[in-house]
Amino acid sequence: MNREIKICDECESEYFANASEMMKLCPDCSHYLYGYKNCDHEFLNGRCSKCYWNGRSSDYVNGLKSIKWEPISLSELQDLIEAGVSKLSVEDREFWKAISIKPAKWKELQYGAEGNGFWVVAIKDSNVIWYNDIEEGFNISTFTQYGEIAKYYTEQDELQWSIRKIKKAP
Ligand SMILES: [Zn+2]
Ligand SMILES: [Zn+2]
Repeated sequence: MNREIKICDECESEYFANASEMMKLCPDCSHYLYGYKNCDHEFLNGRCSKCYWNGRSSDYVNGLKSIKWEPISLSELQDLIEAGVSKLSVEDREFWKAISIKPAKWKELQYGAEGNGFWVVAIKDSNVIWYNDIEEGFNISTFTQYGEIAKYYTEQDELQWSIRKIKKAP
C-alpha cells in the first residue's frame, strides 16, 4: 500500500497525508497548534507506524507541550506496564499476576481531579500500585476506601521497582 507522504511545515517531519486533518501539518503539530485530533502514536523504529511522524517536535510545540498537561492514555499506560513486567523475574511475575488488576482510575483528592483520578494497576492488602502521570512514575499508597488513593506520592519509579517494593511491604 502506497500512502502519500508530506512534510510538516512546523516540525519538518514526514507524515502520512491522510493521517492528518490539516493540509500542511502532521497530526501532532495540528493537535498542539490548532486542537485537531492527534494520532495515538505507536512508535516503531523511530517512526509512528500510524502517521509516520518521527516524534521530534519543533521547539515551539515542545514549549506548548510542557504547558499543556494531558493525562496518560490507557494504551500508553499498558505500554509502561508491559515494559515493567518484561523486566521481572519468573517468581516476581507470578507475584504480579496475583496482585495486578485491570487498570482502573481511582480518586485522589490532592492532585487527582485534573486527570480524573490516577490509574491503579495492582492491589495488595491495603496497598495499591498506581501511576502518577504528573510526575511520571509508579507509586505505592495505602487505601482505606476502595476506589480512593489515601496519600499522594511523587516517586518516579518504574513498575518493576514498585512491584518489588510492594512485595516487601508489611
Ligand atoms: Zn509536525
Ligand atoms: Zn502517529
